[in-house]
Amino acid sequence: MSETRKTAIIIGSGIGGLSLGIRLQAAGYDTTIVEALDKPGGRAYVRQQDGFTFDMGPTVLTVPHFIEELFALERDEPGLDALDFPDEILPKTAHATELRIREGWSSGPRTHEYVKIRPILPFYRIYFDDGTYFDYDGDPESTRRQIEAIEPADLEGYERFHRDARAIFERGFLELGYTYFGDPWSMIKVIPDLFKLDAVRSLFGFTARYFKSDKLRQVFSFETLLIGGNPLRVPAIYAMIHFVEKTWGIHFAMGGTGALVDGFVRKYEELGGTMRYDASVDEILIEKRTAKGVRLHTGEELHADLVVSNADYATTYMKLIDKKHRTWNPDWKVKALRYSMSLVVIYFGFEKREGETLDLQHHNIILGPRYEELLTDIFDRKKLADDFSQYLHIPTLTDPSLAPEGHHAAYTLIPVPHNGSGLNWDEIGEGFVDKVLGMLDDEGFIPGLRERVVTKSFITPDYFEGKLQAYLGNAFGVEPRLEHSAWFRPHNRSEDITNLYLVGASAQPGAGTPSVMMSAKMTCRAIVEDHGVQAEKPERSEISEPAAAK
Ligand SMILES: Cc1cc2nc3c(=O)[nH]c(=O)nc-3n(C[C@H](O)[C@H](O)[C@H](O)COP(=O)(O)OP(=O)(O)OC[C@H]3O[C@@H](n4cnc5c(N)ncnc54)[C@H](O)[C@@H]3O)c2cc1C
Repeated sequence: MSETRKTAIIIGSGIGGLSLGIRLQAAGYDTTIVEALDKPGGRAYVRQQDGFTFDMGPTVLTVPHFIEELFALERDEPGLDALDFPDEILPKTAHATELRIREGWSSGPRTHEYVKIRPILPFYRIYFDDGTYFDYDGDPESTRRQIEAIEPADLEGYERFHRDARAIFERGFLELGYTYFGDPWSMIKVIPDLFKLDAVRSLFGFTARYFKSDKLRQVFSFETLLIGGNPLRVPAIYAMIHFVEKTWGIHFAMGGTGALVDGFVRKYEELGGTMRYDASVDEILIEKRTAKGVRLHTGEELHADLVVSNADYATTYMKLIDKKHRTWNPDWKVKALRYSMSLVVIYFGFEKREGETLDLQHHNIILGPRYEELLTDIFDRKKLADDFSQYLHIPTLTDPSLAPEGHHAAYTLIPVPHNGSGLNWDEIGEGFVDKVLGMLDDEGFIPGLRERVVTKSFITPDYFEGKLQAYLGNAFGVEPRLEHSAWFRPHNRSEDITNLYLVGASAQPGAGTPSVMMSAKMTCRAIVEDHGVQAEKPERSEISEPAAAK
């Protein structure tokens, strides 16, 4: 065999970029990932600070078999067939999840070689502003019990919600999950179904049809915030998240999400892929409307048969590609899309107290006094309100190795407007962070926190804009809204440039770790459709020796 394998460059080592790297290697391509930062992961970068390990981004892992699928890939087995959902999905899913949780099982045999993944219960504890809480764990019985305690009249609504969300999950995720909407017809075909399922109204409007209680409307709609979607705007197709979590559980990688990223890098390198860090791309090289490679910030040029951008959609087109090459993605059109909100994330370590059991779980959602109005401040008015809601993550409740003995590692994440707001985070950042940590102390979530904090750092929208090169400092790419869905969402195969592809949160299907892994599969399929599966590398004996060595 002497065929030459095609070469690919992936810009960015986010979870989407790494997943695609693994798939392309398995499909026989010679792949190089060029990453601007000094370590992999992108949003899932790991910050080491004063002996503490902080995952900077994703912490809630869903759909564990997407991870297993990647670790199970081998050379010449790109695994691009239809859905690859395990047999037990429906109707036995709830039972399967229960089993996994009871037995502490999660990662499949190949995954175990790279990372240990375990289920977390409850999935989330959701604190309301009056101090009461809801432990959401996917178990219908405990869910019913808690609904009854909040609003007995909503029990019947829950049964209907459950039935309708399940129908959306079956159609939207199990059947259409991997549909790549590369042309308008692919989208037109599914529109009647979406109307039939009532999946086009806003998620919050959808939950309001089933629940009278404001608390329950929040419990069943907040999850899209973890992928950059405003529950007031995101279409109800996202009610599927509720079912995705219920079906396969919520998981945590022991050692943190960083351990999963390290596992992906190892797998990619074992398959022969090349990583290059501190390699920021300034330009995608284009000749005759065809991608030819990239030029790095250092001036070095790398050439390849195809280029994939895992960077932000707006950055890819507006910063890396000269406008003369763009008719489908001109600046005005890229700017006209709406970008997700941003975040302030505070990473902090604090002392444990003798005999104290924190009244907190691994994943805590702490809702402020306002919901709809706060969301409107963040997404539409682009205003930093006096009140806030947050997601407080305490991984050391599951994995104490992330902090020095006698300490907890935590982060708290607060949705804030993206940099279209004009807020000056250099001026307001520190004060905002003090206010958030002060609230956790004053309201008794972590009593005495101010005195117990031993290390602290934070990021603001400026980190997303500067360090991660995300337009307006968005935290999740293009905002998931009806008008950015399906064919209207940026395409994984560029219309402007031949042999240029996109993968990750800005492309289809969207943000979140399972989605960017799906995105990698969609993009790999598009590449294989265009270029085929590549021939295996020739055996050593088949390579003719260079003339000088003879
Ligand atoms: C704080 C936070 C918490 C989150 N929590 C969850 C969660 O719990 N569960 C969940 O499912 N999802 C969560 N998400 C969303 C999820 O993390 C992301 O959607 C996903 O990780 C994005 O992956 P990606 O492949 O799109 O790439 P990204 O992670 O965005 O990586 C892109 C990479 O491209 C690199 N890059 C950019 N420009 C260039 C250039 N010019 N040259 C070279 N490299 C470049 C960047 O440095 C970066 O490494 C969270 C996100 C954030 C920010």
